[in-house]
Amino acid sequence: MDTMAQEIHDGPEAGTLTDGFHLIIDALKLNDIKTIYNVPGIPITDLGRYMQAEGLRVLSFRHEQHAGYAAATAGYLTKKPGICLTVSAPGFLNGLTALAHATTNCFPMILISGSSEREIVDLQQGDYEEMDQLAIAKPLCKAAYRVLHAEDIGIGIARAIRAAVSGRPGGVYLDLPAKLMGQTMDAEAGAKSLVKVIDAAPRQLPAPEAIARALKVLKGAKRPLIILGKGAAYAQADDDIRALVEKSGIPFLPMSMAKGLLPDTHPQSAGPARSLVLKESDVVVMIGARLNWLLSHGKGKSWGDQPKQFVQIDIEPKEMDSNVEIAAPVVGDIGSCVSALHEAMGKDWTPPPSEWTELVDSKKQANLDKMAPKLQNNNVPMDYHGALGALRTIIKERPDAILVNEGANTLDFTRSIIDMFQPRKRLDVGTWGVMGIGMGTAIAAAVETGKPVLAIEGDSAFGFSGMEIETICRYNLPICVVVFNNNGIYRGTDVNPTGGADVAPTVFVKDARYDKMMEAFGGVGVYATSPDDLTRAVNEAMDSGRPTLVNAVIDEKAGTESGRIGNLNPQSVVAKK
Ligand code: ADP
Ligand code: MG
Repeated sequence: MDTMAQEIHDGPEAGTLTDGFHLIIDALKLNDIKTIYNVPGIPITDLGRYMQAEGLRVLSFRHEQHAGYAAATAGYLTKKPGICLTVSAPGFLNGLTALAHATTNCFPMILISGSSEREIVDLQQGDYEEMDQLAIAKPLCKAAYRVLHAEDIGIGIARAIRAAVSGRPGGVYLDLPAKLMGQTMDAEAGAKSLVKVIDAAPRQLPAPEAIARALKVLKGAKRPLIILGKGAAYAQADDDIRALVEKSGIPFLPMSMAKGLLPDTHPQSAGPARSLVLKESDVVVMIGARLNWLLSHGKGKSWGDQPKQFVQIDIEPKEMDSNVEIAAPVVGDIGSCVSALHEAMGKDWTPPPSEWTELVDSKKQANLDKMAPKLQNNNVPMDYHGALGALRTIIKERPDAILVNEGANTLDFTRSIIDMFQPRKRLDVGTWGVMGIGMGTAIAAAVETGKPVLAIEGDSAFGFSGMEIETICRYNLPICVVVFNNNGIYRGTDVNPTGGADVAPTVFVKDARYDKMMEAFGGVGVYATSPDDLTRAVNEAMDSGRPTLVNAVIDEKAGTESGRIGNLNPQSVVAKK
């Protein structure tokens, strides 16, 4: 440890001098930052040590990408920026994918990376891990800053926090050159230089005329629909949103991570009638959801021939008209917008015509009836329905557990089969469909909420972050990972058409024992071949809180190419599949 800095801070000269290390720590603490998701190394090893010594929780990962996904998840769950701390160039680059993920998903996060000497980097003289990190981060985040002088640390961190959480939240990069940390200054002046960010994410009230316009559009609707997105979940305006939805009587469709904002079993939930409501609705109210690829950009076949009018509630004005015309844009924070709209509905609000709600209900019931028997099956090896039927019951019985989910078929089937009952309990691949969010996300979920976590992972998806199960064991986190092991990507059955020795590009080692990996680090490993095995193992894990990995053997023929987004694969006209 850098004993000099320690002495400066705690030693006999305390009160006279402080340094960059301790100004960074004091600035973070002053702003209620409590947890750092970190990978140690030059030049930030001591920073992590001093952070821990000063009472911050410092969790070290095996790879920066997962520390970054954890920070992004922490931001989403807490509305405070999650902090990821990395070394220079390679560590920084490893963290960048997560920074871009946070920005794309509107999660507040700050990637703090140490960097090499400016004078040498800028003259390109070949410094240790030389890289102009600030320039590289800029296009991938909402804001990027570099602090060169100890007296600017307070302002630098304040700017980073405000940029991350205000307006549309996102990722921020903060560049801290190695030299900065050792800089000293008078301790009293240092303390004065710190900034406590006041009202970091100010409320943004919608204009009254925007609310009136939205209400007018809504009143003209015969087949209205509300779409809830993860922005609505992020806003933590759960009661206001529920009140609006219930008062309106309008069927609602939750986007993946908005599931549970209202329970999936709510009578107004249109989840199981998704295709129908997208096609047949005439007015669609978007609440914290974007008309991006996940909603077919608001047009085309999946939206049907019905002319549509959109009402959109979002904090980002530029989101309006990004894909189709928005008849009634409502710009502001979701809590304020939703309660203003609710109030404006007043006493004379009439719920949508019963022909519409009955149509939605009957479609929903038909789809649920079709699904039910499939979920009961006890096939060995398991198919997705049998395995998820078992896990669905577990989440129903433990509604405050957090579900983390990634994969292709594993993602699609889990999303549609497992009902969620509480807000912000479903964490998944987000806007980009990132494979690799799994363990980082699960770790942050456990750390930030203290609740048990069930991570349902495709075997391929798990591989991206699998080494972090050591991190899970090291911090003894209540995480149960279920690996849906079908021996490969999409399916385990592809063959090499040349007859050569290599297996097909999508195939893994047959019957790999992921459960043994968990045992290697002192956790519990279980090999499960039936839905009953699965139920027993997961319930035990959730009760004990011990790190557990259940290797769930799934029929290698059960999946489909790219799950439900196979249409996004380009097709060759000459190759034979
Ligand atoms: P989903 O993928 O679930 O549809 P998106 O990530 O596409 O959700 O959309 C989330 C939207 O929510 C973004 O447009 C973002 O600007 C918006 N948003 C995030 N936080 C808030 C908030 N507090 N108030 C209003 N809008 C918000
Ligand atoms: Mg697989």
